[in-house]
Amino acid sequence: MTTAKTIAVIGGGIAGLTTAYMLTKQTQCDVLLFEASSKTGGWLQSHSVDNRYVHEIGANGVIPTPHTTALLKHLEINLVPASASAKHRWIWIDDSLHVVPHGIRSLLCNDLLNKRTVFRMLLEPLFRKKPINHETIHTFLAYRFGNACAQRLIAPWVTGVFAGDSEQLEFEASFPLLFDIAQQGSLLLGMRKHKTKERLSAPQGGMGKITQHLTEQLGDRVKTNTEITQIHWDNMGNLTLNTHDNCIDPDVVVLAIPSYQAAPLLLQTDSTIAETMEEISHASLVVAYVSYRKEDVPEPIDGFGFLSTPKSSINILGVVYESILWDDRAPKDEIMFRCMLGGSNNPEIIDQDDDMIGKHVHQSLKTVLGITNPWVQFDCYRYPQAITQYSPGHLDRIALIENRLPDNIYLAGSSWHGVSVNACIKDGMQMASRIVENHC
Ligand SMILES: Cc1cc2nc3c(=O)[nH]c(=O)nc-3n(C[C@H](O)[C@H](O)[C@H](O)COP(=O)(O)OP(=O)(O)OC[C@H]3O[C@@H](n4cnc5c(N)ncnc54)[C@H](O)[C@@H]3O)c2cc1C
Repeated sequence: MTTAKTIAVIGGGIAGLTTAYMLTKQTQCDVLLFEASSKTGGWLQSHSVDNRYVHEIGANGVIPTPHTTALLKHLEINLVPASASAKHRWIWIDDSLHVVPHGIRSLLCNDLLNKRTVFRMLLEPLFRKKPINHETIHTFLAYRFGNACAQRLIAPWVTGVFAGDSEQLEFEASFPLLFDIAQQGSLLLGMRKHKTKERLSAPQGGMGKITQHLTEQLGDRVKTNTEITQIHWDNMGNLTLNTHDNCIDPDVVVLAIPSYQAAPLLLQTDSTIAETMEEISHASLVVAYVSYRKEDVPEPIDGFGFLSTPKSSINILGVVYESILWDDRAPKDEIMFRCMLGGSNNPEIIDQDDDMIGKHVHQSLKTVLGITNPWVQFDCYRYPQAITQYSPGHLDRIALIENRLPDNIYLAGSSWHGVSVNACIKDGMQMASRIVENHC
């Protein structure tokens, strides 16, 4: 066991910031956080547009888990709950919107899944085969709940979380809590025990407040515009980090950056690790914010929004009724939608120009919600390699990487241990505790 003098965290997204912040709370070591861009936050940032709109880069809210609640308490950040109607969600399928059932009662009287499908779903406690490593989400959940449920409910849900394909993602890596419940027995019964009373919430002004507060708390420990270009270690575990114009010798390193950005840093020292990191794929996304005058939206709009299915008639993954959820995100006389396009099944959309993306968005909203008049405001953001896809073998790849890394280099964040904000916060907190235990 060594005494750490300097801990270097690479990456100023929510995972890196949480790790660095928790380290400062638990140890006297020097903590430095290196961020390549001019601003911290990674995917968790909020933009004010014309002082009228708030656009989230990534997550627009969180249903807080105990780790997230604990971090926000440290930071003295209060969450504002989304509109109570947020639990109402829809799926666009068979050319109409269908309510997503959110409990047994609504399952029995829903119009998304027919009686036969619902009956098959309710038989799930009888289908108790344990999930096998590397099974896809589709394979395992179609076995438990039936094929129709997997196609009409689970596939769009996976699109909503990962912008990915339920037939291409590993069940165990993507949904570890569900995997654990399924190991023990029925998902239907087990999930009821894990039902949370927490609601979708966000800080006033947007999720970026969390990364902003963390950055303020870390003060001059945060080095922006500082890209780490190489990580080297020798047989004695001595670490060296290179930037474009400098060289640092920390005692411990936390890699809180996406796998495709981490791989080149390690290539010279361990090509097996770098190649394994390169195997982890990411889905690209386009996020378009579009705002209409209230009177131009003919259907009464309420709830969270809708998702589409992989073979949908509209060229859009899903739409969030952003200004219905949060009343501080757009002028009161407008309705602002957040539209997601692209994902792992339609990556080329990212190369289309704003006009074309605007057409997809407007056409989809016309088809689904009957909007015909032009928008008041439109912005679109292209995110290459935005969301990590935990394809079959993900956990084995992570195990291989972690086993080969020296014991003073740690991984944190969405490429490795969970993509959600909750998962990144939990990972950052746990990583900080492990480092304190092992090195401080
Ligand atoms: C459009 C979108 C919508 C989402 N919606 C939700 C949602 O509703 N709910 C939810 O829970 N999650 C959501 N997510 C996922 C979640 O926001 C992300 O998984 C999470 O924010 C990732 O955090 P991170 O710290 O792991 O990495 P990142 O945010 O990717 O941060 C990594 C940081 O490292 C920096 N960096 C990279 N290379 C280097 C280097 N060599 N040297 C120094 N710095 C470097 C980058 O500039 C970046 O700032 C969404 C994501 C996206 C893209």
